[in-house]
Amino acid sequence: MTVPVSPESATTFDALGLAPLILDAIAAAGYSEPTPIQREAIPLVLRGRDVIGLAQTGTGKTAAFTLPLLHRLLDGPRRTRALVLTPTRELCTQVEESVRKYRSTTTLEVASVYGGVAYEPQERALREGVDIVVATPGRLLDHLEKGTAQLELLELLVLDEADRMLDMGFAPQINRVVAQIPAYRQTLLFSATMPPEVEALARKYLRNPVVVQVGRRSQAASTVTHAVYPVPQSRKTALLVDLLQHEDAQGSVLVFCRTKHRADRIAESLADAGIAAEALHGDRTQSAREKALEQFKSGAVRILVATDIAQRGLDISGITHVINYDVPQQAEDYVHRIGRTGRAEATGDAYTFMAPDEIATVRLIERVIAQEIPRVSRPGFDFGTG
Ligand code: AMP
Repeated sequence: MTVPVSPESATTFDALGLAPLILDAIAAAGYSEPTPIQREAIPLVLRGRDVIGLAQTGTGKTAAFTLPLLHRLLDGPRRTRALVLTPTRELCTQVEESVRKYRSTTTLEVASVYGGVAYEPQERALREGVDIVVATPGRLLDHLEKGTAQLELLELLVLDEADRMLDMGFAPQINRVVAQIPAYRQTLLFSATMPPEVEALARKYLRNPVVVQVGRRSQAASTVTHAVYPVPQSRKTALLVDLLQHEDAQGSVLVFCRTKHRADRIAESLADAGIAAEALHGDRTQSAREKALEQFKSGAVRILVATDIAQRGLDISGITHVINYDVPQQAEDYVHRIGRTGRAEATGDAYTFMAPDEIATVRLIERVIAQEIPRVSRPGFDFGTG
């Protein structure tokens, strides 16, 4: 589950948790405040989470992964510990330049590796030892085959512009590169779009990723991070318990389900698992419902399980954390729940558990909101694992 980043995300670089050396480089670059993707992604990367960044060029995404990456590599031994895979030579050199700019206050070394130019200078740079390699997949494979590049001790992998890499037919090369990287690593994936192929790639290579989504820098920041978890009906409660128990879900979580009976059962199962929860019944009076909601909003009750009906007439706009245990039958309910009604922008996390018989409803919602909701696979809970 996405970490419910504090409702008001940090607005200064100082508050993101980056080392002073990195902050010096940011100041030297002349940046006064982090962009939305940087605000969201940097603390997560620093905490070691796998991140899917849905962001286009121009959002500041390069710094969003490079700054925490450099932070994590500070003080380590010199060997190739981070790899950024990019689709094109142009992007490769651009990312390398960014890394050079942000590493200027450190002793970390970077090299770029791309096709269409001589091997020798790249081999020399790799032989001399670099901490970070920025590469296009084909040329990197050549270096791996020759033994000039080594990835056995890699700790951090970044797949930049993943959608473009797949469009360009790099899937086999990416697979061959990743096969040489330790499974125990941190993986970040950035992509402007999330077609099924990118989802599949993320499912294959990322562990319990957090999805961070932002608009273009010129637009108002939209920081709703929403995701769909494919899960068999029979495993939904186990998934809920797992998410609440094992993730950094310190915040208040509002869970929506279809019927009163289900709400009761879910609340009971959570209680059995040691997670205090209250069910919000549709047949309670309006004032009782308001009271329960107030307790929830004030933090007295952390988990509230509500039915579709209970939702009507409740002001849930201030709540940032919503889990749709069942896919809402009406697309409007989805929109309402993720708090977008009447507001140009919204902050918060919205997760939807999607059983196989709910796929069509999710597609309908996606059509209504004119947006694809990223699928996030949680190992052990996806279809076919129930
Ligand atoms: P990118 O989306 O990574 O291609 O970055 C777009 C541009 O934004 C680059 O020219 C960066 O130098 C610049 N940039 C990145 N982060 C910031 C920031 N926090 N403040 C101002 N400019 C930035």
